[in-house]
Amino acid sequence: MTATIIDGKAVAAAAIDRVKAGAAAFAATHGNPPGLAVVLVGENPASQVYVASKGKMATECGFHSVQHTLPAETTQTELLDVIANLNADPAIHGILVQLPLPDHLDERTTIGALDPAKDVDGLHDISIGRLASGQIDKTLLPCTPKGCMELLSTVHPEGLSGLDAVVIGRSNLVGRPVAALLQHANATVTIAHSRTKDLPELVSRADIVVAAIGRPEFVKGDWIKRGATVIDVGINRIPAPERGEGKTRLVGDVAFAAAAEWAGAITPVPGGVGPMTIAMLMANTLEAAEQSVRR
Ligand code: NAP
Repeated sequence: MTATIIDGKAVAAAAIDRVKAGAAAFAATHGNPPGLAVVLVGENPASQVYVASKGKMATECGFHSVQHTLPAETTQTELLDVIANLNADPAIHGILVQLPLPDHLDERTTIGALDPAKDVDGLHDISIGRLASGQIDKTLLPCTPKGCMELLSTVHPEGLSGLDAVVIGRSNLVGRPVAALLQHANATVTIAHSRTKDLPELVSRADIVVAAIGRPEFVKGDWIKRGATVIDVGINRIPAPERGEGKTRLVGDVAFAAAAEWAGAITPVPGGVGPMTIAMLMANTLEAAEQSVRR
């Protein structure tokens, strides 16, 4: 058996089309489009690329898109002032602070200063608490976990009730919130991490496997239960000498080719979860804008 390859690019493109339509309707009704502000501190090259693509996508969606690029030596107080101004700006419905921040700035203090209603990354303690306590209709969900759930819904349109799910990884960014969302969807969830005993055995019993580890091809194909759905969140760059000297390629946390022989459905890397993250950021910004006029 060979698995269905879950096409994250296509699912993300459909989500973006819905956001574009929603943004146009919002602007027509309220006279101004949804607004997204992205705050970048310092000159981390990867962060610069991410921020540029978020801004470009926001513009494509018809949003009012602003970027605040602050020097690496920005103080915590200066950063909090920028956030306070964005919190107070009625044209801005979503604020994203690009992480990681330079070492002298505290991430929890910074995220904690966001108005939770504008926390489109879903990383504020109030957003996390609402998700953890099952109040998912009252919060903006973190983008990558939300994207994982949307991909799962394409394979399991009837829902996940009663399915056994194993999430490998317990980060605040991915593992924990994915596990909370799976539990909310009535899956029976086990969270595995670096101290878990006999991970292959645990994975072999799961109907759904979400891998968020950050280790190239760590999950082996023959761990996967026949017919299971595999969501590979990992993005790992490895050497690819077969493509030429110094070349690299991206792989996930799952040994894709071997796992596809066992799984019922699996996300590729790239082209699986990755495109969903930015699409869900746009969906969250539209949702924040719509919520702002309901309050
Ligand atoms: P992270 O904060 O480093 O967390 C990794 C998790 O994996 C930790 O909980 C760790 O366990 C666990 N782990 C490490 N080694 C393990 C092992 N040998 N066995 C079992 N568990 C192990 O990483 P993250 O931020 O969650 O990101 C995970 C991956 O997803 C990375 O490749 C990242 O690039 C990718 N990612 C992709 C997207 C996207 O848009 N597609 C978004 C975010 C992240 P402990 O807690 O015990 O240390």
